Amino acid sequence: MVYLNDVIWNDSAWPALESLNHNVSCDVCVVGLGGSGLHAIHELLQHGVDVIGIDAGMVGAGAAGSNGGFILAGVASFHHDAVAQLGHHAATALYQQTLDAIAQLKATEPQFRQTGSVRIACDDKEYADCMAQYRVMQADGLAVDLYDGPAGRGLYFPHDGGFQPLARVRRMASAAVRAGARLYERTTAQHITGGQILANGHTITCKYIIVAVDGNLDRLFPQLAPHVRTTRLQMLATAPDPHITIAQPVYYRYGYDYWQQLPNGSIALGGSRDRYADQEWGDNAGPTATVQAAMEATLRTVVNSSAPVTHRWAASVGYRIDDVRPLVQEIAPRLWVCGGYSGTGNLVGAICAQRIAQAIVHQSRAPLRYWMD
Ligand SMILES: Cc1cc2nc3c(=O)[nH]c(=O)nc-3n(C[C@H](O)[C@H](O)[C@H](O)COP(=O)(O)OP(=O)(O)OC[C@H]3O[C@@H](n4cnc5c(N)ncnc54)[C@H](O)[C@@H]3O)c2cc1C
Repeated sequence: MVYLNDVIWNDSAWPALESLNHNVSCDVCVVGLGGSGLHAIHELLQHGVDVIGIDAGMVGAGAAGSNGGFILAGVASFHHDAVAQLGHHAATALYQQTLDAIAQLKATEPQFRQTGSVRIACDDKEYADCMAQYRVMQADGLAVDLYDGPAGRGLYFPHDGGFQPLARVRRMASAAVRAGARLYERTTAQHITGGQILANGHTITCKYIIVAVDGNLDRLFPQLAPHVRTTRLQMLATAPDPHITIAQPVYYRYGYDYWQQLPNGSIALGGSRDRYADQEWGDNAGPTATVQAAMEATLRTVVNSSAPVTHRWAASVGYRIDDVRPLVQEIAPRLWVCGGYSGTGNLVGAICAQRIAQAIVHQSRAPLRYWMD
């Protein structure tokens, strides 16, 4: 069975932006018009910076426009695992920054639904891990409750929620254009050096570059391969299911499976990557029969939905392989990269890219404290 990418969020028209067809110059060029790149662009615009943004595809063509729509506080690792590597102070500081980002999202994003989220244990061993997470979060003063309800047993995080990820980035891109940013779609960065990008055969000359491509970072910069690796994540969505009510986004089996019910009753479900991890590494971003079948089994036997599957899709993300934090680095003078959000970049990607923009504007690395060594 061959599936084509059919993303449930793609439910409205998008007027294509022009592609780059001449040489240009600017103060800062941002590569990648996903949530991360667009947050950097907005930060730069607020400081009156002349900014260009480019994307190889369309706005939200990558994971930002095709993800699960979960808004979860913290980095990809559960808080107690982040503490084990970074210590209480740094891990809690990162967590707090994602809570601040949620508050900001609440104030600016009309389609954000602050429902809370749950982490449900798949067995006693995972429940013990939930308890360990609970104790560490309580000790660090972070909001968490025990959960025992229709979804199962585990933890409840009151600040979390969900949004429509593609609508969000499209809205941000339109606002950036209105505020004076020059954004180009179908414009691929072929070669990037400090101060210059070759894209579509034309040159972008700039003082600073921010590369916010997450799932393409190790291909653009092979020297980053020991730190970030591209992998595929897959999802499916159903027709509205009138027999099921899922009150908030669910993380199940350590987050390897996840689902939420959308306002129209459809269920969007992802996961099962770990069952086929070897075949999921790499930059092929199409859905596969094996992972789709595994997700469908979760839909039928764990979520207990019999609604027909209407959408199947996949996209590439970067996994950080040597740290619980994403990769944020100035890899050459005035050439910054960020990525490796390990599958949870809606908040963290936005924060990292925004902080890089602040570091550029203020000529200080202070905004990046805790995110990089
Ligand atoms: C199926 C799936 C489910 C997920 N679920 C969640 C979730 O529920 N919650 C969550 O927080 N995170 C989730 N994620 C992860 C999240 O989507 C990503 O971490 C996040 O979107 C990264 O955003 P970004 O802007 O950094 O990268 P992207 O959105 O991937 O954007 C990068 C952009 O760069 C462009 N690009 C790449 N190479 C070039 C080049 N050479 N030149 C120009 N442009 C280029 C791409 O076209 C793309 O548009 C999920 C991801 C997937 C795939």
